[in-house]
Amino acid sequence: MGMDIDCVVVGAGVVGLAVAREMAQAGHEVLLIEAGEAIGMGTSSRNSEVIHAGIYYPPGSLKAQLCVEGRQRLYAYCESHGVATHRLGKLIVAKDQLQVEGLKALLERGLKNGVDDLRLLNQKQALELEPALACVAALYSPSTGIVDAHALMLALQGDAEAAGADIVFHTPMLRARIIAGGFLLELGGTAQMSVSCRQLINAAGLQAPALARRIEGLAPHSVPRDYLCKGNYFSLTGRAPFRHLIYPAPEAAGLGIHMTLDLAGQARFGPDTEWIEREDYRVDAARAEAFYPAIRNYWPGLPDHSLQPGYSGIRPKISGPDEPARDFLISSPAEHQVPGLINLFGIESPGLTSCLALAGRVRQLIG
Ligand SMILES: Cc1cc2nc3c(=O)[nH]c(=O)nc-3n(C[C@H](O)[C@H](O)[C@H](O)COP(=O)(O)OP(=O)(O)OC[C@H]3O[C@@H](n4cnc5c(N)ncnc54)[C@H](O)[C@@H]3O)c2cc1C
Repeated sequence: MGMDIDCVVVGAGVVGLAVAREMAQAGHEVLLIEAGEAIGMGTSSRNSEVIHAGIYYPPGSLKAQLCVEGRQRLYAYCESHGVATHRLGKLIVAKDQLQVEGLKALLERGLKNGVDDLRLLNQKQALELEPALACVAALYSPSTGIVDAHALMLALQGDAEAAGADIVFHTPMLRARIIAGGFLLELGGTAQMSVSCRQLINAAGLQAPALARRIEGLAPHSVPRDYLCKGNYFSLTGRAPFRHLIYPAPEAAGLGIHMTLDLAGQARFGPDTEWIEREDYRVDAARAEAFYPAIRNYWPGLPDHSLQPGYSGIRPKISGPDEPARDFLISSPAEHQVPGLINLFGIESPGLTSCLALAGRVRQLIG
């Protein structure tokens, strides 16, 4: 058997990095293990980089609580660590009266979640903000913004290492066994060794359920079934038509094909929703066909042939296409009865916004 460690975190995405930082700053000896060659090679660099306000999620859910708390902490953290953010604000637009009722319901829901700066705009007010928009009304969220996710991860890594955490790359966790007082982990890749630890935090993103199934002694029913839901993006050639982030009234699995801006001011549209069986990040150019009419609902001026395939990300879902959406699942000892173990399941959007709050919750729950 190899070395004995206090706390092992698996996965160096934005969540694993935030957890490693939190645990190291709380005085734990931390080893963060990552299968890939660098930080943030997974979903954390394949998303919209939006700091969400916390409007959509069911009141009282972890998504609602951790998004609102996480957003406030994230803006403050980025400011103090020189990580670029831009509080652009967002408009959720209604194309007919039925959708206006939907916006009113969202306004109520946002209020219940503690998002107290939302404003319902009539058509004239919305067009004053965004003249190229087509809508009958819009819900304005001034505290929605964007963040440089990679710079954020570098800052979290820097903090974690400054507090004594070690990070190893090219080191997948293969499996684990529950032993007296902790876990025995088998590591592959360059390490090819076993390590024992007292605490184990599984932040393996898309792989988190599969990895949890390889923890011998963990009851199978405490690991949810996992599903992959891909989101494809198309970029716009030419200048961005809007200065705010523009979202249609929400649909089932995602937030609808919306327009976000990157920190350079370039517009991209997406993500759409495509349920898949296997990880595959190629963007099929033919999917643009569904984008044009969806975007023209709120931007009739979208020129023909102006969308280019961009990139894609995969939502780590724990509910299937015909099931109601599930909350983040922070599976802790209270639930699975294994002391020292936390599995993070279903950390889809708003996981980036929530990363600091999620890390705080993990530390509380692990005791
Ligand atoms: C299309 C899309 C758009 C999104 N947009 C937003 C947004 O605008 N705002 C927002 O707040 N959130 C957004 N999200 C959600 C956000 O991106 C995720 O919640 C967040 O990035 C999850 O981070 P993570 O660290 O849990 O996972 P990941 O970034 O996937 O990191 C997991 C890491 O674990 C490693 N790993 C896996 N298995 C092992 C193993 N066995 N051993 C060692 N390492 C392993 C992987 O290599 C990877 O580096 C979006 C998500 C998607 C898919």
